[in-house]
Amino acid sequence: KAKETKENSFEFFTPEMEENSYKNFALQNDLRRAITNNEFELYYQPKVSASTEKVVGVEALIRWNHPTLGMVSPGHFIPIAEDTGLIVPIGEWVFDAVCKQVKRWENTGFPPLVVSLNFSAIQMLQKGLVTKVKNLLEKNQVEGHWIEVEMTESLILEHDNDILNKLEGLKQLGIHIAIDDFGTGYSSLSYLKKYKFNTIKLDKSFINDIHTSADNQAIITFIIQLSNQLNMKVVAEGVEIKEQHDILQKLNCDELQGFYFSRPKPVKEFEELLLNQQQL
Ligand code: C2E
Ligand code: MG
Ligand code: MG
Ligand code: MG
Repeated sequence: KAKETKENSFEFFTPEMEENSYKNFALQNDLRRAITNNEFELYYQPKVSASTEKVVGVEALIRWNHPTLGMVSPGHFIPIAEDTGLIVPIGEWVFDAVCKQVKRWENTGFPPLVVSLNFSAIQMLQKGLVTKVKNLLEKNQVEGHWIEVEMTESLILEHDNDILNKLEGLKQLGIHIAIDDFGTGYSSLSYLKKYKFNTIKLDKSFINDIHTSADNQAIITFIIQLSNQLNMKVVAEGVEIKEQHDILQKLNCDELQGFYFSRPKPVKEFEELLLNQQQL
């Protein structure tokens, strides 16, 4: 049955799909020009220490200001960028932009913060990635320890050794490594031992109902204890309400991130948030 479907696949190509793929095709072309047209922007979302409630880190999240469609979310265009290989130049743009921001904050006397950015697994697989990253750090005169790379666990298993080597290379540059959306993929506890991540980011799906689900609380409690033993920091993503915040604080989660504290913001607004905090 599956074979039949494949052979006659055009029959399953509905007008709606045609429209979709046409849209994606148009979007692909627009995406190609987005870097030179300066259409990308980084938004910044704070990470807050659960014990002091101060901002201790920040995640840079890409935004695409499309000339006619307006803001296109990364959930929509990152997959297209991955399919077309455009994720490589886009990822380079992100890394460079983060370096420039780190430098600007250093030069203007902002409190030093580690800035996290996201790497698609596909970016990790490109040849010469570590050299490229090294060159970008040098060009911008930024030390690696101001940067954390967040990566999901997808593709890790299939490309074990390659990814392991790249992660080691990045670590030698001082860069921190976080495992993003932890608990949603084919997580295997054995690779926590093998990869030595600096940070685990608990996926939002565990946080959503942490205040109502005893099971999720048990899972999170376990992951936090395990991470402590393995010297990894734990960050909870998608903290939206006080009840979630209170529980995570009680469970000794290290850092919290989510709409409860702040949405991702344009850099100016993020800076205002930091300045207001300092004045408290
Ligand atoms: P992620 O790295 O797991 O980022 C977390 C996402 O959750 C962000 O969505 C953020 O805006 C959103 N979020 C944060 N707090 C809350 C909350 O309290 N509630 C809810 N409902 N959502 C919250 P965003 O910015 O749309 O990014 C989506 C995904 O796109 C990211 O997931 C990441 O995988 C990818 N992405 C974003 N920027 C980049 C980038 O520069 N490069 C690559 N390769 N991927 C990126
Ligand atoms: Mg992330
Ligand atoms: Mg995440
Ligand atoms: Mg995600």
